[in-house]
Order: sequence, then C-alpha cells, then structure tokens
Amino acid sequence: MKIFWIICAILFSAILFMWGVNASQPKATHQFDPNKCTRFCHDKGCPHFERRKNSFPDWAVSLYQSNISMLKNNVFGLSYREANVLLYVLLVPILSLTLLWGLLRKKK
Ligand SMILES: [Zn+2]
Repeated sequence: MKIFWIICAILFSAILFMWGVNASQPKATHQFDPNKCTRFCHDKGCPHFERRKNSFPDWAVSLYQSNISMLKNNVFGLSYREANVLLYVLLVPILSLTLLWGLLRKKK
C-alpha cells in the first residue's frame, strides 16, 4: 500500500508542477510573435525552429521531424492531435507508471 501512495505523490506532484507552469504563463494566442512560439507555431509550423534548426545536432532535428511525421501519418488514421494525446498524454505516462510500479514492487 505504501507503493501506491508513493506513486500517487509522484503523479500529483507532476500534475501540480504542470499546473504551476501553465498558470504562470501568459494567456495563449494564435497570433504570430516573431520573438517566441505561440499557438501559431503549433497550428501552422514553427518559423522559429526553422531559423534555429542549425543550432541542434542533426540527429535531434531528424528525431524531431520523424516524431512529427509519425504523429501526422499514424497507422490508426488518427489526426495529429488525437495521435499526440494518445501517445504522449495517455500511453507514455501509463507505460512509465507501470514500469515505475514494477520497479518499486521489485525493490521490496
Ligand atoms: Zn515557434
């Protein structure tokens, strides 16, 4: 039962941290801002990334572009948004929690 409360504390602190970061940011806008990313970048592609692409290693740029391409052209026929939520909001946290649960149980 102690493991359950440890995982709940980890999960709650992660949610609290996300809420804090989100609450401290200015209200989201779809207007283009030349100095920083906005929802415009999410919706239409990020010109900031195109300008800064050379400052990242090639493998990181390739990984990023492969990830976006995989999400857009997924085998389930989902939209980019649906695939993104399914993978990064549901599957990855569930897999991480399952692995953490297994690790903590094994350490007993
Ligand atoms: Zn941007």
